[in-house]
Amino acid sequence: MPSAEIIAIGTELLLGEISDTNTAYIAKSLNQIGIDVFRTLIVGDNTTRITDQIKQSLDQADIVITTGGLGPTVDDPTRQAVADVFNEELIFQDQLWDQILSRFQKFNNTPTSNNKRQAYIPQNAVPIENEMGTAPAFYISEKGKTIVSLPGVPAEMEFLVNEKVISLLIELHDLKGTIYSRIIHTAGIGESSLDNLIGDLEKLNNPTVGVTAKPGQVDIRITAKAKTKVHAKKIILPIEKDILQKVGNYVYGFDQDTLQSVVTQMIINKKIGISLFHKDTNVELMGRLIKLGIFQSLKPVEDLDQNTEEIEQSLYNKSYSQIMRVFFEECSTPKQGFTMKIMFKENTYEKDFWFGGHFILFYSWIENILLNFIREVILQKGEK
Ligand code: ATP
Ligand code: MG
Repeated sequence: MPSAEIIAIGTELLLGEISDTNTAYIAKSLNQIGIDVFRTLIVGDNTTRITDQIKQSLDQADIVITTGGLGPTVDDPTRQAVADVFNEELIFQDQLWDQILSRFQKFNNTPTSNNKRQAYIPQNAVPIENEMGTAPAFYISEKGKTIVSLPGVPAEMEFLVNEKVISLLIELHDLKGTIYSRIIHTAGIGESSLDNLIGDLEKLNNPTVGVTAKPGQVDIRITAKAKTKVHAKKIILPIEKDILQKVGNYVYGFDQDTLQSVVTQMIINKKIGISLFHKDTNVELMGRLIKLGIFQSLKPVEDLDQNTEEIEQSLYNKSYSQIMRVFFEECSTPKQGFTMKIMFKENTYEKDFWFGGHFILFYSWIENILLNFIREVILQKGEK
């Protein structure tokens, strides 16, 4: 990633008469396109000191942005200071003078002779037209380094950054790239436990690793910025492997996968027929469980230990190679939660789950916990 330094120019800034808001704006804009800002400075309106500072900054960083000191008066020193950095002359540019004249005309004004100064830029500089004001900006790009000089008036500076400078830097420093994300879906582990296991990876820069808690599951997102998608995937791969090694046990899928799609696929592949026996379940929740599309039958029972053989007889056709019985009971004491019992391949798995989130997420949480429990049992991971 290219690095940058920002130099704010103006004695007013040093005296504390105005505060330097331009630097923050420029820094943010540079960061957004993947440029690291390593240092920012304020220098007074003094040509020699500005020249010295720019030289230093160009030594340290790939990109130097100056703001301020481009006005029409003698104490606007930036043009001369930049020219001195490269031992170049300031050259009068007809084209810039025309732009300045037409801008004055637009506002029914006439330029003073001082304004002519603004049509001078260093010989090796390329002008950047400033439609928001009279002071033209310019840039010099040499030996892989770029200096951009912008006016100090915030509205002009912001306009030029957004409309001109960002695309210029992307072009000059080959920042065209893609942002690509890989999402690892986990269930059965809480956000804080995940943080404990992969917290060190969350400090990485590129790719970045972030954790998002959802009801009954947690997503890990690895995001890389690179020139191409292939490059981004390459950066992501070792981190993904690392994460899988640390928390692979809890991973149920990637990217577009959902617990519902993963479990559905599993029961189709393994030809498992599932029936749900539920106790006192309310209509809304029942509707949601039906919509999951994984149960071949839903039947009410008196209690979770009821012998279901009789009601089962009619439930299954012969196309299933395995049958799973899921017993479900919602409970509200001592907390909100539910009890689930699964009978599968001669084994019985039973567990209580307690909910700690916002009540509007309660049913989504139930769905995901239930789906994950079924998934674990099919994988023989569930507690017996
Ligand atoms: P102008 O053509 O207006 O003279 P300029 O490039 O010479 O433009 P300056 O004279 O340095 O810019 O600053 C003009 C005004 O812009 C300042 O009086 C101040 O109000 C504002 N300004 C300059 N630098 C900054 C800064 N770093 N942060 C916030 N405001 C600034
Ligand atoms: Mg000025």
